[in-house]
Amino acid sequence: MSPSTALVWFRRDLRLHDNDALVAACDADHVVPVYCFDPRDYGQRSFGGHHSFEFQKTGHHRARFRLESVTDLRSSLRDHGSDLLIRVGRPESVLPDVAAAVDADTVTMHTLPTAEEKHVESAVTHAFADANVSVRPFWGHTLTHIDDLPMALADVPDTYTTFRKAVEAESPVRDPVPIPDIPALPSNTPEVGTLPSLSDLGPETSLSPDDRGVLSFDGGETAGLARVESYIWEGDHLRTYKETRNGMLGADYSSKFSPWLNEGCLSPRSVQSEVERYEDSRVKNDSTYWLTFELRWRDFFQFQFAKHGTDFFHRGGIRHRTDIEWRTDDTQFERWATGQTGIPFVDANMRELNATGYMSNRGRQNAASFFANNLRLDWRRGAAYFETQLVDYDPASNYGNWAYIAGVGNDSRDRYFDIVKQARQYDGDAAYVKHWVSELADLPPTYAHEPWKMSDTEQAQYGVEVGVDYPAPVVDLDASYEKLR
Ligand SMILES: Cc1cc2nc3c(=O)[nH]c(=O)nc-3n(C[C@H](O)[C@H](O)[C@H](O)COP(=O)(O)OP(=O)(O)OC[C@H]3O[C@@H](n4cnc5c(N)ncnc54)[C@H](O)[C@@H]3O)c2cc1C
Repeated sequence: MSPSTALVWFRRDLRLHDNDALVAACDADHVVPVYCFDPRDYGQRSFGGHHSFEFQKTGHHRARFRLESVTDLRSSLRDHGSDLLIRVGRPESVLPDVAAAVDADTVTMHTLPTAEEKHVESAVTHAFADANVSVRPFWGHTLTHIDDLPMALADVPDTYTTFRKAVEAESPVRDPVPIPDIPALPSNTPEVGTLPSLSDLGPETSLSPDDRGVLSFDGGETAGLARVESYIWEGDHLRTYKETRNGMLGADYSSKFSPWLNEGCLSPRSVQSEVERYEDSRVKNDSTYWLTFELRWRDFFQFQFAKHGTDFFHRGGIRHRTDIEWRTDDTQFERWATGQTGIPFVDANMRELNATGYMSNRGRQNAASFFANNLRLDWRRGAAYFETQLVDYDPASNYGNWAYIAGVGNDSRDRYFDIVKQARQYDGDAAYVKHWVSELADLPPTYAHEPWKMSDTEQAQYGVEVGVDYPAPVVDLDASYEKLR
């Protein structure tokens, strides 16, 4: 019998640890790991459907992070006696070519629940339909395995608390699978290929690292595991996570695991097993529980997208709402996107996002609420802007959270944030606002949050003329809340 050969198609699972698709491939005599930079993931794209608009699919921050992650994966595979074939092209074209060259019998991969990812999977499956190659999908990016859900997918609750209680009670988290011995590449393996450059992937802006950011977010499994080590073990921050998680400045108020989780450099099950090890050896408290609680939010949106499909990308969302008049206003959009709204708490967060690709959860809630509720701009354009910029973008987490805040997702209440109240609560001394909006550095905290309230004399006294040194508000906040009540 001729030796068996498996391709393992790496996607957003850029790791060796806890990787079921890799483990399954390693049953073969030879394994060929492949990664494709799919051109559809880069450059300007239309959102599609009614009221479509253009946006950049992957911006600088995530493109950089992904390139670093693929580089790290290749290096780890080489350390294990293998390699990573890297191609720029559509997986449905690339994979059959590689499979034919190495005479593969199997392709293993991770499946994802969101529309574009599923579309590519179908195209790959279709491309192999007439070949004697079996395509084997695995589920591996959530804490709870999809097969362990205590209900059918169609019955997954649309409210988080009901979902969480059910999985907590009935769905133990599986143990991570160990890294397998990886069989060598076959002798007929084609050229392994070179990594594209950042400019090949076409982000329109190239940025240097910004030392005002919370963390440098180096891509790859090695850096992701190092972040787990430093956050949970060396820094001992898990102990106080619940109290610090609403922070906005510094590396350690929250875990910052999201970019690694979303490119698959970390598996949620491996994070959970570290949480449990920490609970056994150091402390088990509300904070340790809360990290798992947040990972379950991530799961919740993954299963929501598996259930509701593309409804999440429609203006009316999963609730099919038609009663909200979403607006289009390019000037307001630009002011929001560039951090020039004249509302400092929003501007600081948008400037952080643009400079670093990251924004705290508190910041995201406020920036999104301002866009969708105060400005009433089509929430999907704001979400698409996050898609471009976020280093940790995930379709389900991003569009799911946006829909929730815009009142078209998983919450039947209309949910809007009082931006100035939030700023006072979470940035009482205005240190965060001043960190990102340097124009306001010399103002006392109350005026740093509401500069438009300064009299002419005070503006002269502090050297900040509203409308000249810092923008006047793009909207009358009070009037915009009136419309929402
Ligand atoms: C409008 C908006 C858009 C968002 N877009 C994304 C996105 O594209 N990708 C993304 O990973 N998160 C997104 N989030 C959720 C959340 O803001 C980030 O996961 C979090 O800020 C990442 O920082 P962290 O890893 O330090 O979080 P931590 O507080 O340390 O939480 C640990 C992990 O739990 C998960 N998590 C926490 N909160 C949420 C949540 N509300 N929804 C889903 N998962 C959560 C993340 O995987 C996170 O890494 C969004 C939230 C909002 C309000």
